[in-house]
Amino acid sequence: MNNNIDSLTYYATTKKYDLRFPILKEDLDVDVVIIGGGFSGINTALELAEKGITNIAILEGRHLGYGGTGRNGGQVMAGIGHDLEVIKRHVGEKGLETIFKISNLGAGIIRDRIEKYNIDADLCRGYGYLGFNQRQEKTLRGWLKDFQAVSPDEEIELYTGSDVKKVVGSDVYTCALKHMGGGHVHSLNLLLGEAKAATGLGVKIFENSQVLNVEYGSRVTVRTSMGSVRANKMLWACNGFLNGLEPYIYKKTINTYAFQLMTEELSDDLIEKISPIRGAYSDIRPVIDYYRVTNENRLLFGSTTPFIEHIPSDLKAWNRHLMLKVFPYLKDVKIELAWGGPLCCSANLFPQIGSLPQHNNVFYVQGYSGFGVTPSHIVCKVLAEGISEGSERYDLMSSIPHANIIGKDTLRHLMVSAGKIWHQTSGYWKGRR
Ligand SMILES: Cc1cc2nc3c(=O)[nH]c(=O)nc-3n(C[C@H](O)[C@H](O)[C@H](O)COP(=O)(O)OP(=O)(O)OC[C@H]3O[C@@H](n4cnc5c(N)ncnc54)[C@H](O)[C@@H]3O)c2cc1C
Repeated sequence: MNNNIDSLTYYATTKKYDLRFPILKEDLDVDVVIIGGGFSGINTALELAEKGITNIAILEGRHLGYGGTGRNGGQVMAGIGHDLEVIKRHVGEKGLETIFKISNLGAGIIRDRIEKYNIDADLCRGYGYLGFNQRQEKTLRGWLKDFQAVSPDEEIELYTGSDVKKVVGSDVYTCALKHMGGGHVHSLNLLLGEAKAATGLGVKIFENSQVLNVEYGSRVTVRTSMGSVRANKMLWACNGFLNGLEPYIYKKTINTYAFQLMTEELSDDLIEKISPIRGAYSDIRPVIDYYRVTNENRLLFGSTTPFIEHIPSDLKAWNRHLMLKVFPYLKDVKIELAWGGPLCCSANLFPQIGSLPQHNNVFYVQGYSGFGVTPSHIVCKVLAEGISEGSERYDLMSSIPHANIIGKDTLRHLMVSAGKIWHQTSGYWKGRR
């Protein structure tokens, strides 16, 4: 991994849980083995444990939250994939309705979990979806109706003209959809709180235990350099960090990279000016700017390259330039940290769950396409149903085909750049430009 994007994050510097898990140095026998200690692995384990399946081992190659889960914007957004219409031809009108309902469970699952397990994760309500022009305003009016239909009890309002400043302190937007059901969360503390809850129910977690080899069969054997786990079922939950160990699922996604900065601590007045709702934000362009304030009065601001895929050499300067376009009055503010990470994208930008064609006891989850904090909580609930007793919604979600991405390693820059250009162009017709 590139050191530039692998540098210290806001999350690592403000971690509240001092959890340490051992290296796997034994041969274990369990019901379910899970590879990957991010939201996907931990959430699926917790869901299974709550169903009474507690003989589970999670193997994480580095430390919990090493992947996207410890690097993201912490945005708790509504929805699941980027554009549900793309899956309509596979699931039909009725299937789409079911998935639309599922897709709005996310923030509620996070809230309930935080309450149930008393997790200290700075969850704040308040989200702003932002637009720059009349086309985007029309799109946001459509979202307003959709959101109100599925969340009738939430405060959801559209602001235009000078009223936009009631939501966000910037002159660049012409419209803002405020959704108080969404918000933001300290994703690493959420993950660690969930991990603590899972271990409390009997789940075993191992860190610094990179899986090197897997043997499939009616029982699966997973090996690390110092131990092994035999299990009835297994789950691949490595997302953008899979590195080809399981070729069937590896070829179904491609990584692009996103980057973030963290400012110094700002005054209460400045935070109030930036974010009267103390919330999280993203504009609705195909390639978004996303940002939020933190409990310590910092601004986290992130984005990805809009057209041509590359990793900027100076992440602080690159992100600062974007931040100043939105908030020019932050020009004297010090940027303390910047980091990045891979967004594991599927061809239709919809998360993938399923099992391997020849091995129905081997499951996988991946491809959140940059939108995984809330979706992982939804998807892993459904996935845990599939791994345990089975469910109609698991059958529905896993029936969506997952296209192979040819040349994902050899032609990555070209493929991602072409994908971004396509995404940007088609975004115009979807009212997002
Ligand atoms: C910079 C950035 C910003 C983002 N911003 C947002 C946002 O604001 N909102 C949002 O919704 N989403 C965002 N995302 C996406 C979101 O963070 C991810 O979709 C989500 O965290 C994925 O969780 P995961 O558990 O599937 O994968 P990860 O958190 O990436 O975890 C995978 C884990 O698997 C482990 N692993 C890999 N191979 C092995 C192996 N062989 N053996 C053992 N362990 C292994 C890795 O070490 C890693 O810890 C962002 C992502 C990035 C990188």
